[in-house]
Amino acid sequence: MNAYHLLLDPAAGQDVRARRIVVPDGAPLDLVATAIMAVFDEDAECAAVTLVVRGLPSGAVSRARFAQLVGAIGVHRGDGAVGAGDGGTLPGPPNRFELFTYTCTACDARVYRLEADRQPPDCAVAAHGAMELQP
Ligand SMILES: [Zn+2]
Repeated sequence: MNAYHLLLDPAAGQDVRARRIVVPDGAPLDLVATAIMAVFDEDAECAAVTLVVRGLPSGAVSRARFAQLVGAIGVHRGDGAVGAGDGGTLPGPPNRFELFTYTCTACDARVYRLEADRQPPDCAVAAHGAMELQP
């Protein structure tokens, strides 16, 4: 159990096309949710991502479950009609962050980080070695 269990979807299973988000220690839930949204936005085929907390995969977030959650907490504020002024506004104050993308040179694996000042992550397939930061 961790602070992000609310986001996790036990039904998402392991078939996540090897997308992982490395969550910094103590990252607030809304920041993590924003990062998840950015990944789903960037990769339309991504059905689920795995959150890596303190170096360990802690569970998967499926796109379907995430959409339900985001709908429930109200991504779009205001009383306008649905779709009116739809600028993809997030709840609460905007979180400033940058998403760093690492890819494996040998397979389709992808890791997202909110910080880039550390060693690049290794692919889950040990023989593939370190991943490369994408420009
Ligand atoms: Zn690989």
